[in-house]
Amino acid sequence: MSENIRNFCIIAHIDHGKSTLADRFLEIGGAITRNEASASQVLDSMDLERERGITIKAKAVRLNYKSKDGHIYVLNLIDTPGHVDFTYEVAKSLGAVEGAILLVDASQGVEAQSVANYYLARDHNLKIIPVVNKIDLPMADKERVKKQLVDIFGFSESEIIYVSAKEGWGIEDILESIIKQIPPPQGGIDEPLRAFLFDSSYDEFKGVIVYLRVLEGKITKGMEIKLIDKGDFYRVTEIGVFNPRPQEKNSLTAGEVGYICCNIKNPRDVSIPDIVIDKNNPTHKKSFSYRRLPPMVFSGLFPAAVGDYNNLRTAMEKLSLSDPSFVYEPDHLDILGYGFRCGFLGLLHMEIIKERIEREYGIEIILTTPNVRYEVTTKKGTFFVESPYKFPSPQELIEVKEPFVKAVIITPWEFMEPLYELAKKRRGIPRESDYLGQDRMKITFDIPLAEIIVDFYDKVKSVTKGYGSLDYEFIGFRPADIVKVDILFNRKPTGVFSFLVERSKVLERSRLIIEKLKETIPRHMFEINIQAAVGSKIMASVKIPPLRKDVTSKCYGGDITRKRKLWEKQKKGKKKMKMLGQVEVPSRAFLEVLKI
Ligand code: GDP
Ligand code: MG
Repeated sequence: MSENIRNFCIIAHIDHGKSTLADRFLEIGGAITRNEASASQVLDSMDLERERGITIKAKAVRLNYKSKDGHIYVLNLIDTPGHVDFTYEVAKSLGAVEGAILLVDASQGVEAQSVANYYLARDHNLKIIPVVNKIDLPMADKERVKKQLVDIFGFSESEIIYVSAKEGWGIEDILESIIKQIPPPQGGIDEPLRAFLFDSSYDEFKGVIVYLRVLEGKITKGMEIKLIDKGDFYRVTEIGVFNPRPQEKNSLTAGEVGYICCNIKNPRDVSIPDIVIDKNNPTHKKSFSYRRLPPMVFSGLFPAAVGDYNNLRTAMEKLSLSDPSFVYEPDHLDILGYGFRCGFLGLLHMEIIKERIEREYGIEIILTTPNVRYEVTTKKGTFFVESPYKFPSPQELIEVKEPFVKAVIITPWEFMEPLYELAKKRRGIPRESDYLGQDRMKITFDIPLAEIIVDFYDKVKSVTKGYGSLDYEFIGFRPADIVKVDILFNRKPTGVFSFLVERSKVLERSRLIIEKLKETIPRHMFEINIQAAVGSKIMASVKIPPLRKDVTSKCYGGDITRKRKLWEKQKKGKKKMKMLGQVEVPSRAFLEVLKI
């Protein structure tokens, strides 16, 4: 039975055509028609994802494929996300497969995520099939990309498959290669159950839907199972596969990929990834250990309208289910009221969560300036601090360390110099650089995460005219001179705009923020003095001059009701304001500061 199964995923740099290729597979697998496929990319079920071209959630689909020699195969395709923040998500799905298709755009060539994903797949001992996509494009350069695949990864020319996912060229070649190259799953059917839980989603009626790959044995409806990580027991109420629509079954056996439901009401009861075993016949094989990536970027998230707090909490619960790398805890700030302190893998991850809350749940939110997590030592010990409000005073502080990443940039060689300059400005420490083929370079830096979470990616793109690509991974904490900067309005601390920054960057960051505030906060009846301060020392300041009072001057004579009406009208004009002391701050100001 498992001789006819192949489990695989597609790994690619963003926009190299993974979703499009997945659709072609689904057509051939008979699951959907070409019309359905072109109407929407089936694996990307969320609007937002489609818009951004990112598949955030890994999902599994089952394809039936009749090979050229007449055998019927079951191919399980696990969809993996491809963006720089989501390496962790990719890695989760790799535990469920034996092989991976490395998809590379024929016009772009190998990029940073191609390299990162390749090594992830290799670390999981997967059989990797190199595929060059978009050969229909006039700019396609098959020879160049072929050479890269050979030079960088050591593939042989004959293994490389050339396709156009858009035009549907070469799709069967990939499927035939999957059957021949990727080994069938190995686990024995007669052994005790051991299944790899790699994803989950939530259904209002069924509760948590758990995606799993059976490694050994068999899981059946009615079976009592144990989730190893939390140690809880459940009875399986439903089993099935996605074809891509759910299709119920009575069991899944070794090698198969599908879903189960067991009346798990609380998303938090499921850890991802995890191992599932049979309660009454537990396997004695040891479990596996998994490097769970901790959140690296933190920000406060508050409802713009106080009444939205409970809705927001519900939204966060649901989002964190489908995305365990997103974490949150309740928080309170004088000015913004009740909200949450959230942790994200990176800045893009943060933006996606924010947009999903606003779009899918219709809640308008305010995000505070993001920051990284510092390792702080005081007399009381060593602990992590994410929030500027919890940062110890200089007197208490013994040592601070900040997170560092190894950043890899792949770029045409002519942009090497400006990239080095950019990295230097961001406190980057150059490591090695290598030629990739004749025209490209791979440059590596150690660089503080704080320096790249905000707009580094955009900067890399603009410096390299769009040709550069970036990947990074956390390498550890290193000592740093970090200070807390407060933003004051008329000498009163605002709280919300406080941030932690490396000492050499205090002036630069402070100026940026106060200038943005000056641009976005409308004039008031009084002068607003905006200052950035470290402790009691003012580092920078700007002033917003008072409004000229001529709005009401044309009705002098003192008709107070007319004046009031004018004032009301003025107020309505400036929507979505937040009071910070005496000062009305538009939401836009928060967002602008956030973008810095
Ligand atoms: P993903 O980010 O890897 O999932 O990439 P998508 O499948 O979303 O594709 C990114 C873009 O490339 C889309 O605009 C696709 O229509 C386009 N695309 C994908 N495959 C091909 C192809 O074979 N030829 C051409 N010309 N465009 C393609
Ligand atoms: Mg996609």
